[in-house]
Amino acid sequence: MAFRGGSGKIAGMSVSAVSQIETREPRARAVTVNVPFQGGELAPVTPDRVRALRRNLVEAMRDLRRAKHPEKLIQPREPELDGFQATIAAAACAHCQGFCCKNGGEQAYIDDRTMARVRAERPELDARAVIRLYAESVPATAYRGSCIFHGEKGCTLDRPLRAELCNSYYCTGLRDFLNRKRVPGAAVVVASRNGAGQTSGTLRSET
Ligand code: SF4
Ligand code: SF4
Repeated sequence: MAFRGGSGKIAGMSVSAVSQIETREPRARAVTVNVPFQGGELAPVTPDRVRALRRNLVEAMRDLRRAKHPEKLIQPREPELDGFQATIAAAACAHCQGFCCKNGGEQAYIDDRTMARVRAERPELDARAVIRLYAESVPATAYRGSCIFHGEKGCTLDRPLRAELCNSYYCTGLRDFLNRKRVPGAAVVVASRNGAGQTSGTLRSET
């Protein structure tokens, strides 16, 4: 669930922001990070979509109320990336434009586990206020056929409100980069799919 903020998933860094740290060094010495490319169109978010989101949130709240041990539903949080890994994750998701958000629909992978975490972290909010918070995070326009929170510049949902899946998922190309034993000093992001895409310049670690 890309295009997300923090350490990746689009919201963290726009392509134009990425260009500020690009250099014109030769690419031969840089690692290539291959990711998909979303390349969709934006469309206004209809009231029907927002209503569907609200229904899904109410259902998730209901499931949470039925849980005997709601605290056990809270999933451990994936630590945020930092340093050059965070830079590359943000660049990859920005160039990809959030291909992995396309199945988010009006649910955005949010379920009783997400609600359990949000209710625990925001005890001052009642159920209605939580639902309002989500509804207010819906962008005016979102990518057609993708998650309701998938806006032009990435995920419009704050990281603490997202499903843990959104905060922890990395596609194969990005995961391969993150799993390297040593963090490379330079990388190029290549986002492509069906002949369309975009490529970053060479991104270099500042350390
Ligand atoms: S909430 Fe939607 S847009 Fe945001 S990261 Fe998850 S799937 Fe992507
Ligand atoms: S598919 Fe990969 S690069 Fe694209 S947004 Fe998702 S995690 Fe980021």
